[in-house]
Amino acid sequence: MPFYKCFNLLTIFLVLAATPILSSSEQLSTKFLDIAKTPEVFDWMVKIRRKIHENPELAYGEFETSKVIREELDKMGIPYKHPVAVTGVIGFIGTGTSPFVALRADMDALPIQEMVEWEHKSKVPGKMHACGHDAHVTMLLGAAKILKQHEKEIQGTIVLVFQPAEEGGAGAKKILDGGALENVTAIFGLHAVPNVPVGLVASRSGPILAGSGFFEAIINGKGGHAAIPQLTIDPIIAASNVIISLQHLVSREADPLEPTVVTVSKFQGGGAFNVIPDYATIGGTFRGFSKNGMEQLKQRIEQVIIGQAGVNRCNVTVNFFDEVSPMNPPTVNNDELHKHFQNVAGNLLGVDKVINMPPFMGAEDFAFYQEVIPGYFFMLGMKYASLEPFQSLHSPYLRINEDGLPYGAALHASLATTYLIKIKQ
Ligand SMILES: [Zn+2]
Ligand SMILES: [Zn+2]
Repeated sequence: MPFYKCFNLLTIFLVLAATPILSSSEQLSTKFLDIAKTPEVFDWMVKIRRKIHENPELAYGEFETSKVIREELDKMGIPYKHPVAVTGVIGFIGTGTSPFVALRADMDALPIQEMVEWEHKSKVPGKMHACGHDAHVTMLLGAAKILKQHEKEIQGTIVLVFQPAEEGGAGAKKILDGGALENVTAIFGLHAVPNVPVGLVASRSGPILAGSGFFEAIINGKGGHAAIPQLTIDPIIAASNVIISLQHLVSREADPLEPTVVTVSKFQGGGAFNVIPDYATIGGTFRGFSKNGMEQLKQRIEQVIIGQAGVNRCNVTVNFFDEVSPMNPPTVNNDELHKHFQNVAGNLLGVDKVINMPPFMGAEDFAFYQEVIPGYFFMLGMKYASLEPFQSLHSPYLRINEDGLPYGAALHASLATTYLIKIKQ
């Protein structure tokens, strides 16, 4: 064989050896992103997102949003259960048999007046999709569209969970209580974030978001003339002492190596310069990363409020809203699913686009699923524009970049499909 021929063969061999052979899972993921970016899917997603954005609905009131979801699922021929947890919808794609893997999107908006002036601004005064849940619903519908087109390749069943009431209503718990996810072996969820560029994702293995609880205390004294305090029992002073003492739970009682937050974010009392009011109300949130620690903190918050109010001769009622807003556990990502996520997201976006993020004191009711099902939660970059002022979730100025929609849809679809392929092997 002449040298040049031999050289050519060697070159071909080397090129082949250096070219990573894409597995069918990798090819599928790439294909999903391409499909999600086609005008047919992308424009349709943008339309749905704007429709939901214009009509935000609060926890357990997501009736129109639920209708939009069901109409789209009907058009795609995807069967679903409804109602689940009042307004929730659970769709099914695939064989209809085990194994089952779930993808979750939350549906509710916030009681915030939108301050962004744009064509598709919220049409409901005082309500806004300021946490990006409009995009979450849209991306799960986008995933549904892609998955339906590839239903024959799905080796099991993908369960689409459209969940109400994430914002303090523990909708995830209500979905679980209804028994709708009993056979599910893994669940994935994402959150749009306005400070990470489009095309990037961030997450970590283990604890990622804190557990959280809410409290409120009504401190009752005895009102009267502000100039004659000796004839009153001043609830404002009592409430002030309570607030200061609550801070000592973090600075003096919590392990300095255990992240803990107690924030009093509500303080209402009185209405005149010369009147000591009958009562004052305080309220806030507490956060931590251990469930036991959270239980203890809750107990101590109650003791401190009652004790300090008593020292100041006040009566007090403390409410932790256990019925309407039960304590949220910490969000803890399963390590096996983290590896799966890193593979899938790395293949889809490039390994340098998959960021390992530190834990964060925000909370998510996705944690309720993770208590009973191995689960994985990640952040999806939807930064609007680099020149915009800093925006955060729950801000009336929040804008999200719709260019991120295809990434969320494709990641959902890929994570579920390849997970089913993986566990069948
Ligand atoms: Zn939120
Ligand atoms: Zn949210």
